[in-house]
Amino acid sequence: MSIVFIGLGSNLGERLSMLQKAIACISELPTTEVLATSSVYESPPIDNSAQNHFLNAVCKIRTKLPPKALLDALKEIERRLGRPERYARWSPRYIDLDILFYDNQVLNQDGLTIPHSEIQNRKFVLLPMLELDDYFHPVLKKHLSTLLAETNDASPVLKTKISIALQQEN
Ligand code: ADP
Ligand code: MG
Repeated sequence: MSIVFIGLGSNLGERLSMLQKAIACISELPTTEVLATSSVYESPPIDNSAQNHFLNAVCKIRTKLPPKALLDALKEIERRLGRPERYARWSPRYIDLDILFYDNQVLNQDGLTIPHSEIQNRKFVLLPMLELDDYFHPVLKKHLSTLLAETNDASPVLKTKISIALQQEN
């Protein structure tokens, strides 16, 4: 079993519903259990202020899916929730699912980089992730709290009161 942190973001459509649906889909992946989810944060788009703001969150899972299989499963969920196959980087999106950490593995192959290469540059990842765990970054050799103190990201990332709690079925 591996512990994995997944970053979620949405700035199109029913943004909260996108995050909730994505977490529900993740919880239904084989051999996978969602252990915790952060609060929901709101952040401005990276480079295009005409877009909607993003809602962001991080969830912690336990899984037996290896990294590449998990990435493929997350891309399939992105597709199912309406994300087009190809579009410009940073364009609006229904849902973006990123593998932030996979245990303390370091990987750079098959179009997959773990830990995710932008963690230290994104407060909308650092803040929700820190709620769950002040993880030690195995490449940068620093805890996330240190990376947050040192980040260049000056964007206003706000913690909302929105709860992402999994909706019970029945
Ligand atoms: P970003 O998430 O940086 O805003 P995209 O979602 O468009 O950008 O990601 C582009 C590609 O990054 C994905 O198709 C995926 O193959 C690759 N990628 C590399 N490492 C990771 C990772 N750790 N998690 C998710 N995607 C990753
Ligand atoms: Mg992504």
